[in-house]
Amino acid sequence: MQFQPFDVLPKDARTTVFLLGEDNYKEGGHSALTGEQLAGILALCLKPGKVGTIKSAAREGLKADVYALLPKELTYDKLEELMAEVASTLRTLKAKQVDIALLDDSLKDLSAAFYKQLALVDDGFSHYKTTGIDPIDPQQDKQEDEAFSPTFTLYLPKSMDQKAEEKTAKQAKKLAEGIRITRRLVNEPANVMSPKRLAQEASELAKKHGFEIEVFDEQQIQDMGMQAFYSVAKGSDAPPRFMVMRYMNNQDTKQVLALVGKGLTYDSGGYALKPAAGMDTMFCDMGGAGAVIGAISTLAMLKAKVNVVAIVAACENMISGHAYRNGDIIGSLAGKFIEVVNTDAEGRLTLADAITYAATVIKADKIIDIATLTGAVGVALGNQITGVVADDEGIWEAISAASSKSGDKVWRLPHFDHLAKSNQSERADIKNSGGRMAGTATAALFCRAFAFGVPWGHLDIAGTAYSDKASAKAPLGATGIGAEILTLAAVKLFEQ
Ligand SMILES: [Zn+2]
Repeated sequence: MQFQPFDVLPKDARTTVFLLGEDNYKEGGHSALTGEQLAGILALCLKPGKVGTIKSAAREGLKADVYALLPKELTYDKLEELMAEVASTLRTLKAKQVDIALLDDSLKDLSAAFYKQLALVDDGFSHYKTTGIDPIDPQQDKQEDEAFSPTFTLYLPKSMDQKAEEKTAKQAKKLAEGIRITRRLVNEPANVMSPKRLAQEASELAKKHGFEIEVFDEQQIQDMGMQAFYSVAKGSDAPPRFMVMRYMNNQDTKQVLALVGKGLTYDSGGYALKPAAGMDTMFCDMGGAGAVIGAISTLAMLKAKVNVVAIVAACENMISGHAYRNGDIIGSLAGKFIEVVNTDAEGRLTLADAITYAATVIKADKIIDIATLTGAVGVALGNQITGVVADDEGIWEAISAASSKSGDKVWRLPHFDHLAKSNQSERADIKNSGGRMAGTATAALFCRAFAFGVPWGHLDIAGTAYSDKASAKAPLGATGIGAEILTLAAVKLFEQ
């Protein structure tokens, strides 16, 4: 992404996009256009929030392929929708080098979001789709398309501070890179992204972006006493991995924030087997792990002044003669006994040990966990809002502020004491499901029971981590949710 001042508008034949605010889409508006140029654009009769394309490149001395009119009340959602349209138009035009001219400063505070969306314009999960061979219809065989990966040059009007915008764009690019990391890790199917492979990927990212990582194997996991985590893992032939990643870059404070991500590389439900309809996307049950790995990579890229430890307990939940059962009573790193009433409520068992590790071994001052944890969160909030439970106002405020910057919607759910009582067991210290009622909150409160009183927050991304169709927010597949929220929330928590 390069930046140019507006007075050297491109005159060559590259693909050009013009963005203009609705307020200035009239005679006498404050745009960087001459009257004659504006008259040319006005003749197009653009609709706010819609993208117009013209076939003939030249019009009144201005060359543009795509015009977009930013609506007066520009919101994050509206910008996303508009940018999705611009992206699909550019894709159709097979654009390679794109000049984008902002004709006025109507993007305002949303310029960071705009740059982030540009940086994600070519993202998608397609490397298992070969072109040239169509197994279903050989008549459709076609030559491989050239990859769509445009480069952008931005032309800014004088009313925008070019230096500041360049800085914003650089940050936005790193945030976008973190989202790409999360999406890539989550999109890979379970036959590829095993716990071992996830640990390898995290180790490569650690080397590339500059954070530390420790990986514990199956034997070490047992030796450490992670009985809850291991009970889930032992049904699978794919051995589990426990990962502890550290990015300690703030010497002014001893405060440490732990980010704990659920890392079920596959969840069959175990003996509480899922129906086929819900099982085919269960490779994305490590969406929380993908998010914390994406976040710590981004924090390192940004050289953020934070002390963050990201923790992932990665395993598969499978069926075999070694698998745990409904009715088992298992131990945990915390020393508590857990009655397993449902083997499909496995995520919280793995989180329990990871959170205990964060609280007692890392001695974190704050813990945020993130997990594709409950179907109930989708029932309550749909697939575009992440449910949050937090017992600490500072953590909630940081998550909430981060979400409004990242454009990812969050909603806080309650953590009343009576809800935790649903997890009381007759046979052990606690049971791993409090039933269907308030299922998202009771699952969260199960996790909190292992936080040893450390201020805690919890994001349930079961509804938002994966989408089976493309939207303005993300292409089909993993959305990358969590990478940006956790990054921004961590930065915010260390600013206080
Ligand atoms: Zn499950």
